[in-house]
Amino acid sequence: MNEKLKTREFHIYGLVQGVGFRPFVAFLAKKHALGGWVRNAGGIVTVRVTGEEGALVSFAQDVQKQAPAGSRITKLTQSELPIEKFGGFRIEKSSMEEEGASVIPPDLPLCEDCKKELYDPADRRFKNPFISCVACGPRYSIMDALPYDRQRTAMDAFVMCGACALEYRAGGRRDFAQTISCNGCGPQLIFKDKETKLIKEAAFEKAVRVLKSGGVLAIKGIGGYHFACSPFNANAVRRLRELKQRDKKPFAVMFKSAKEIGKYCGVLPAEEELLRSAPRPIVLLPCSGEGLAPEVCAESRYLGAFLPYTPLQELLMDALGPLVMTSANSTDQPILKDDADVLAIRSGFLDGVLYNTRRINVRQDDPVMRVAAGKKQVIRRGRGMVPLPVLLPVCTEKTVFAAGSDMKAAFCLLAGDRAYMSQHLGDMENADAFDNYRENARHMQNLLSVRLETAACDLHPDYFSTRYAQSLGLPVIRVQHHHAHIASVCAEHGIMEDVIGVAFDGTGYGEDGAVWGGEFLVCREGGYERAAHLEYLPIAGGDRAAKDAKLCALSYGIAAKKDDPSGDGRMGVVRAAARSGAAQVSSSMGRLFDAVSALLGVKEVNSFEGECAIALENLAWRALEAGTDPYPLRFELREADGMIFAGQVKLAGEVMDAAREGADKSAVALGFHRAAARMVKEVCCLLREQTGIRIAALSGGVFANRLLLEDVIARLEKSGFDVYVNEQVPMNDGGTALGQAFIAAIKNGSKGK
Ligand code: ZN
Ligand code: ZN
Ligand code: FE
Repeated sequence: MNEKLKTREFHIYGLVQGVGFRPFVAFLAKKHALGGWVRNAGGIVTVRVTGEEGALVSFAQDVQKQAPAGSRITKLTQSELPIEKFGGFRIEKSSMEEEGASVIPPDLPLCEDCKKELYDPADRRFKNPFISCVACGPRYSIMDALPYDRQRTAMDAFVMCGACALEYRAGGRRDFAQTISCNGCGPQLIFKDKETKLIKEAAFEKAVRVLKSGGVLAIKGIGGYHFACSPFNANAVRRLRELKQRDKKPFAVMFKSAKEIGKYCGVLPAEEELLRSAPRPIVLLPCSGEGLAPEVCAESRYLGAFLPYTPLQELLMDALGPLVMTSANSTDQPILKDDADVLAIRSGFLDGVLYNTRRINVRQDDPVMRVAAGKKQVIRRGRGMVPLPVLLPVCTEKTVFAAGSDMKAAFCLLAGDRAYMSQHLGDMENADAFDNYRENARHMQNLLSVRLETAACDLHPDYFSTRYAQSLGLPVIRVQHHHAHIASVCAEHGIMEDVIGVAFDGTGYGEDGAVWGGEFLVCREGGYERAAHLEYLPIAGGDRAAKDAKLCALSYGIAAKKDDPSGDGRMGVVRAAARSGAAQVSSSMGRLFDAVSALLGVKEVNSFEGECAIALENLAWRALEAGTDPYPLRFELREADGMIFAGQVKLAGEVMDAAREGADKSAVALGFHRAAARMVKEVCCLLREQTGIRIAALSGGVFANRLLLEDVIARLEKSGFDVYVNEQVPMNDGGTALGQAFIAAIKNGSKGK
């Protein structure tokens, strides 16, 4: 026997099951000429191999470096064993029980091997729009129940042909590949319009012709349908806007390659990596809009660009080049997933539907991400991300259902140290969105076979999510909105230490019933103390003031004792409302951004959330790019009764004066951003003096403002803070469920791991 041979056992922890990990390990073992086996064992992957030292070392390195898309290794341990001889390398089948709750794979993008076959005329899946293998294809979106096998998925409807049935047991890339199909079996492509119904190649070719000639199509994807058209055809894009009833938000565009995206947008290496990452997210990239129909980007500085993730999209990109691919829904409605609903759309709007007979079980929009301050950020969770868990620094004894917030709704199921965040579920005020939320909550609970023991939700008494949590018949832990925002940052970064949390958003229900939203919280051991905030100000108009920034600005005008800044004569009414106590007291940073935007005449209405703030940010970027000096503005800090107040009224007054004096608006916009960033730094430094805490956590929808976020991070880091922001869940309300779950776990007595 060769004396240099050694036997070693590896334990691989993290997200390593249901993502093609075992075939990947087998492939590497063969590459390094190692004998042995790999198996799934209770949530981890165990590998035992015999070989020469050098081969064992490079094997371990490759496992970590080349791990398959969708997997995440959190720890790899190895131990030396007495020498054991193996005839070859094998994948050991695991029992049903072992494949249990922890194994729910997300939808995976087309892999490189399948892509090669897709373009190989000799392959029996040449140009097959549903090609997949153990490492790629739909998963979560087609699952009915666990364990994950064909009978419990939407693939159950299709009988395998003889060739596929053989391949299904042949030990290769399609060994037990539940989505296996070919040109002779499985789902087939269908094209339907007013006159015709075509299948297979004819369906594909017709769809290409319609899109080429400026048509608008609905195309079935993984988590739902897209509406698609050429981004170069202004007329088609305008028709698509009518169909979506969406005036101003930019559309996402799918491109064949990152190189092609580079022709229209600036793409940094970190952004390219994000584009190629497993969920194939829509990535927000700076874009002049040049070369595209102006209706695509509308007023945005950014284009949402993404790469194909299904074989059908790959083939479409090949035949057509870039396509607008936007979720098929009208504003605020859940994405359409059922063929009948799409086929029922009035034909005047749509020139055809390209679909197939494979059912979609779980609705999921495409995820939206960006890179800011050099870090990946999630704006919207969606397909390819769910239900990969976020690993928490605590292990909960009691399972938790956290209901999240009502805007950008998303829930979280916490079992052990795994927090399963849902996809983006829309605005709960929409009845269909709320139904979809409930359906998804039940579905994920069934799949994970989790028995719920605790519910967590917002303090807001009128949130639909709050009422839903209360309806579950469980003990309910209420978590203040901004506390949940900050806790979501701590949860995903594994921070158990005390932190200074900065939560800036539009609206969150405060402990005192006021509208909070410019908050500095000292967070300790599952609790928090409100240490500083934007000074209170009565804002008249209720929810209307959140839409109508001009109305909101009037309240600032009154508080700052200025003449009517709007000139539309509504000041008297607002003043009366403020006096009568009908106005709501607010410390919201979101409202301040709205007011400044309206006071400068930049944008006066939020037709979608954050529109005024985005316009103000865009103007500030223009000043920055033109080298214009920021207009000097500042927040004065005042301390009383152990609380620090940031003086937003005086600042708004200065903005009004500047506007009246005809100052350069872009300089004022930039000056306002700079003042806000400086204020954050100064308050954090004061709180550090009081508490000794050197960790800062930033969250809340206002930080979607990249200019503000990057400035704040730079200033805090320069002052010696360790700064953390959300990277796996959205910083907007779509991430609050994670924070609620984490707080509930701590309040239930869970200790750090
Ligand atoms: Zn594949
Ligand atoms: Zn087949
Ligand atoms: Fe919020």
